[in-house]
Amino acid sequence: MDQSTPAAPATAWHALEPQQAIDLLRSAADGLSQGEAGARLQRHGANRLPAPRRRGPLRRLLLQLHNLLLYLMLAAAGVTALLEHWVDTAVILAVVVINALIGFIQEGKAEHALDAIRQLLSPQAMVLRDGERREIAAAQLVPGDVVMLVAGDKVPADLRLLQVKNLYIDEAALTGESLPVEKSIARDGVDAVLADRRSMAYSGTLVSSGQGLGLVVATGAASELGRIGALLEQVHSLTTPLLRQMDAFSRGLSLALLLFALATFALGTLWRGQDAAEMFMLVVALTVAAIPEGLPAIMTVILALGVQRMARQNAIVRRLPAVETLGSVTLICTDKTGTLTRNEMTVQRLVSAARVLEVSGVGYAPEGGFHLDGAHLEVDPALREVARAALLCNDARLEQQADGSWRLHGDPTEGALHTLALKAGLEPSSEQAQRPRSDVIPFESEHRFMATLHHDHRGHGLIYLKGAPERILEMCSQQRGPLGDQPLDPDYWRRQASDLAARGLRLLAIASRPADPERRTLSYADVESGCTLLALLGLIDPPREEAIAAVAECRRAGIAVKMITGDHVETARAIGARLGIGLARPALTGAEIELLDERRLRELLPQVEVFARASPAHKLRLVEALQAGGEVVAMTGDGVNDAPALKRADVGVAMGRKGTEAAKEAAEVVLADDNFASIATAVREGRAIYDNLQKFILFVLPTNGGEALIVLAAILFQLTLPLTPVQVLWINMVTSITLGLALAFEPAERGLMSRPPRPPGQAMLSPLFVWRVLMVSLLMMICALGLFLWELQRGTSLESARTMAVNTVVICEMAYLLSSRHIYASVLDREGLLGNPLVLLAIAACLGLQLLYTYAPPLQRLFGSTALAAGEWLRVLLAGVLLLAAAELEKRLIRRWRLHPGKPARQQSASG
Ligand code: ADP
Ligand code: MG
Repeated sequence: MDQSTPAAPATAWHALEPQQAIDLLRSAADGLSQGEAGARLQRHGANRLPAPRRRGPLRRLLLQLHNLLLYLMLAAAGVTALLEHWVDTAVILAVVVINALIGFIQEGKAEHALDAIRQLLSPQAMVLRDGERREIAAAQLVPGDVVMLVAGDKVPADLRLLQVKNLYIDEAALTGESLPVEKSIARDGVDAVLADRRSMAYSGTLVSSGQGLGLVVATGAASELGRIGALLEQVHSLTTPLLRQMDAFSRGLSLALLLFALATFALGTLWRGQDAAEMFMLVVALTVAAIPEGLPAIMTVILALGVQRMARQNAIVRRLPAVETLGSVTLICTDKTGTLTRNEMTVQRLVSAARVLEVSGVGYAPEGGFHLDGAHLEVDPALREVARAALLCNDARLEQQADGSWRLHGDPTEGALHTLALKAGLEPSSEQAQRPRSDVIPFESEHRFMATLHHDHRGHGLIYLKGAPERILEMCSQQRGPLGDQPLDPDYWRRQASDLAARGLRLLAIASRPADPERRTLSYADVESGCTLLALLGLIDPPREEAIAAVAECRRAGIAVKMITGDHVETARAIGARLGIGLARPALTGAEIELLDERRLRELLPQVEVFARASPAHKLRLVEALQAGGEVVAMTGDGVNDAPALKRADVGVAMGRKGTEAAKEAAEVVLADDNFASIATAVREGRAIYDNLQKFILFVLPTNGGEALIVLAAILFQLTLPLTPVQVLWINMVTSITLGLALAFEPAERGLMSRPPRPPGQAMLSPLFVWRVLMVSLLMMICALGLFLWELQRGTSLESARTMAVNTVVICEMAYLLSSRHIYASVLDREGLLGNPLVLLAIAACLGLQLLYTYAPPLQRLFGSTALAAGEWLRVLLAGVLLLAAAELEKRLIRRWRLHPGKPARQQSASG
């Protein structure tokens, strides 16, 4: 065995003949053996680009300190140390360390969550191993493997092409060239630069059309993509518009506060003649109190946790900003087949020129037979011919599992035809051996048909076609009758087609045509005319139960649902009706859409919920028209040509199973189960995440505001300080490790999907929010400062009064945390008070720390706190209750006066 790498990386593969390349890599035209591939995998390693270099834990921890506020705090610690205020120094340092640790842990959690999601998106590749087609993880590819490419695939490694058929590859990822490049197998000049190497397909580029077969010549880091130093695709950057907005906001706020603090310092020392050291500490306390240092970090965590939750529910978010957009989606355009339906097809009817047959049995198991007017029908030659066409013009494969069930590899429509052939008693391998396939025109949604060219052993050529009846009818001039070929009777077939479609059956016509014995390749011109129609098939594809419920849920949530399908208009309507889409409403076909101008289309759109015989180009037009009408559109797609519509949509949703890599690449969200219900889930989660972000902001800002106001008021009015600088630092430390985190785990609100979508682009800090922040800040200040002053008046000692003030602030924050669970709804019920165990846990932990603060002698010494009597606790508690009551009263008034956003969900169709 050769132990060295089969060929040096510098080999000019593009300048070799295909066979030379195969020989050099010790491979064969039908691929490697499984054993050899395993051995090579050991030698070359997995076909993966290097993961982005992780920052080491120490570096990450230090980076947490890299922020303006913490620099300030460190400086403050330095000055306090110079002033020999050791306690202050220690506490400031503790706050710095704790903040950095929280940031560090949270960030780690968020990255971990996103890593797991990245894993879910790893691509597959179709290879030849042991002479058989096999779908494997692209990471398992090794040099020498033979890989198949079809439109929509992402090229999984660097390939020397061995066969091409109209193969066009979009190499923008590598060369920046935006037009797809046509590939060939002829060798290129040795000096050809990357962009000119027609005979190569490079890792990371996208097959935009056609098919090909290629020999893997380089994998992983050795590929061109790896060599230019590209990293594993960063699926997410940890940010969204809202997060950036908040980041900028808190940075601006920090800066403003810093200036404000400096001004206060200057005024205090120069004008009021305060002691500089004391004033300095005050200013530090003020700054620390006011800056919402945890805000951006915890918002990131809320986002990451939410995205993780979505992934568990089969909605994989590729771009984080989509989470926010999902919450404001007003309209979902969805595919039918496989998304709203189960994509488990069975042929139920077979219509020929002479008779209409029923086919019994369900699923892919070949159990069942043919019936004419209720009576069993033996398979006759005419039936066998239809079945043979169905079997040969077909890329699906059925495999019987150990437990007897049948498993489909390939397209469900084709799987159903395969089953039909088995029911007709055909033996797939012998049929395929007798009439080997020489060429194929693959199915594409634009053309809606597939054709294959076969030759039997005597050299007779035969073309089989299958596809949408309208398409196939255009190509036929005859039909196969009981006594041989007859002229085509299009009306008969159209009637039969509408009849099948009205039952919700998916339609497929089957035809054939002789071909020249010499012809070995198939082009569109070969099938344009002169075909013979053999039969019309009706397939059932039952709707998904959960999709029916999800459509209804979307309706309640003020989200319109439109179905866009390539299927026959009658089929689409019949299936739509079962799902509650497009009932008693007109449907539009792709052809009709083409006849409409923009204005007319936009007028019609609100009426129409079912779009049939639509191709990807129509999808793009629809998205644009809908967006022009002010909708925020989520659009599903799976094919290569869906990419433009997916990109254009506000939220592009690609199918994880049947979707192409091209579609996934263009999409923001990938559905692991291709299920419409998962889109509804994603919208629900998107709303919940946005809610939690809002709640968190609404919690954090007033708690900082309240603390700051207390200190500020004391400075301004030259009162005895209710909170000493260390005490402020203590409050910050305690509440940020306990209370702040709890809202990240807030469950979705009950009425989440019965309120209308959030208006897009709505500013987070709406006037109502600003009001709330100010109001709660003021309330906190009044409670703490008021109680403190009153206590002093009553002759309570300064230590006790300050201990009470500290406890009051913390209790008020707890009360406000409870209230923050709902932004507008009351929390004064069982669910509201007890609904989030983490909130309760955080409150309990915080309470524990406050008891330590109040009673533990070392802390008493550090912070100057002192034990409180029962009566004093009661007054502190009362302050908390007061705050809760006031906050709830405010919400009540807002509800009463309907000041909150959200009008009743818009009127939906009859079913809604
Ligand atoms: P959708 O996915 O919305 O149902 P498609 O574009 O897949 O729409 O299919 C449109 C039509 O093309 C189908 O109604 C059927 O007649 C035909 N068709 C679908 N799949 C195949 C196939 N594999 N081969 C030939 N024709 C097909
Ligand atoms: Mg389809």
